[in-house]
Amino acid sequence: MSETVLVGQIEHETNTFSALPTGMTEFADASLHYGDDVIDDLQGTNTAVGGFLRVADEADWDVVPTVAADATPGGTVTADARETLLEAVLEGIEDSDPDGVLLALHGAMVSEAAPDGDGYILERVRRAVGPDVPVMASLDLHANISERMATHADGLFGYDTYPHVDIGDTGETAARAMAATLRGDLDPEVIVERAPLLPPLPELRTETEPMASLLASSADAEGEEVPDVSVFGGFAYADVDHAGFSVVGVADRSVADDARATCRALADEAVDRRGEFDRDYTSVDDAAAEAAAWDDDAPLLLADISDNPGGGSAQDGVVLLRALLDAGVEDAALATIYDPEAVEAAVDAGIGEEVSLALGGRSGENGDPLDVTGRVRLLSDGDYRNQGPMSTGLAVSFGRTALLDVDGIDVLVGSHRQQPYDPEAFRSQGITPERRRVLVLKSTVHYRAGFEPFVGGVREVATPGLCSPDLSAFDYDHVPRPIYPLDEV
Ligand SMILES: [Zn+2]
Repeated sequence: MSETVLVGQIEHETNTFSALPTGMTEFADASLHYGDDVIDDLQGTNTAVGGFLRVADEADWDVVPTVAADATPGGTVTADARETLLEAVLEGIEDSDPDGVLLALHGAMVSEAAPDGDGYILERVRRAVGPDVPVMASLDLHANISERMATHADGLFGYDTYPHVDIGDTGETAARAMAATLRGDLDPEVIVERAPLLPPLPELRTETEPMASLLASSADAEGEEVPDVSVFGGFAYADVDHAGFSVVGVADRSVADDARATCRALADEAVDRRGEFDRDYTSVDDAAAEAAAWDDDAPLLLADISDNPGGGSAQDGVVLLRALLDAGVEDAALATIYDPEAVEAAVDAGIGEEVSLALGGRSGENGDPLDVTGRVRLLSDGDYRNQGPMSTGLAVSFGRTALLDVDGIDVLVGSHRQQPYDPEAFRSQGITPERRRVLVLKSTVHYRAGFEPFVGGVREVATPGLCSPDLSAFDYDHVPRPIYPLDEV
């Protein structure tokens, strides 16, 4: 008799410094599927649910698809959205009485009246299924792990890459551990070892040190009895009391002591090597000067690292665009400024017409709007499907989108906040990114997976915004102290 496994996704990375609440509209604007649509829309994609479904096919499970929801990172998730999404999972449990529950969570969700959003979800699911049904979750590398999450889950499995190119593989790892547990081959325990570290986003790249060797060591520690060891960098922009770096193992109880020692040693190594997280960034002025002088055949890529909607920023900063225009940079393309009112103005003007407007800067997070006059080159629905290595096959959207030519810089302006990490962000708008002299992306790290193969240089530009690597600019009230780099540890 085949087992019944319930599948659900409730994902949000919450930047508690953002004033933009995340409600059902924000989930619907990004990715929201119910019931059989969960399978139809995510099967075959490089997503955690895609990974669950691959293993489900092999194991011949009866899959109960409930909900798959993932909003662009932003401010605190409303209680209404959290309960609406959770209710879909709890109803599925009630109706199907599953043998196991597989959830795709982020691990850095902060919700109204339940700051540990992921721990809250896991506890509610645990209460619904009872103590004997295994509950396992895939998590983002940027998860802030709480004791509550570990208490109510039988397995927590993090991505091993940033850019996150192994999301589907992580889903598979979680589902294989579920299959082993259901067969009686694994009696899993979750082990959490913390480190007093809060690295800003760019410093958690897994191709650079110290993450590269920490992840190599964690992979070496994995095997049949220890199906996963994850290095969670944490999410520095969620000001919660469980924020920060941790190493988490999923181990059979028979070897849990050894696995705990391994996790502890990795967490200690991260603390010892904390100075290696630090790095230098390019100033806005230096980036503009270099862009003006760039004469390589392959484009110069400027990453607007602090105004990344993928970390909860408003995506409406124009500081870098202003500097590029002042420096006379041409043959450039920028993705994407979030400004629905500017899109409206472009739609009213029409394709081929000139439009003058105050662009961006509406959130107040990152400077003033920029007065521009541009020609409307294209208007579209902003929909595209990722073709690059990250979240391959996933449908995403900038919402209604206008392409404005502003003095030789093609500026995409969108109506939904969406990180442009895949080259399809440009191609879907008729722009061939390989042929531009300068590319500007509202992204901190993820763009590297799709763009690095063809660009001539990358600069991490120190713009203002809610993903700034300068953590001293944020007022923290809740993160555990002392924590590096806010304090000496
Ligand atoms: Zn992440």
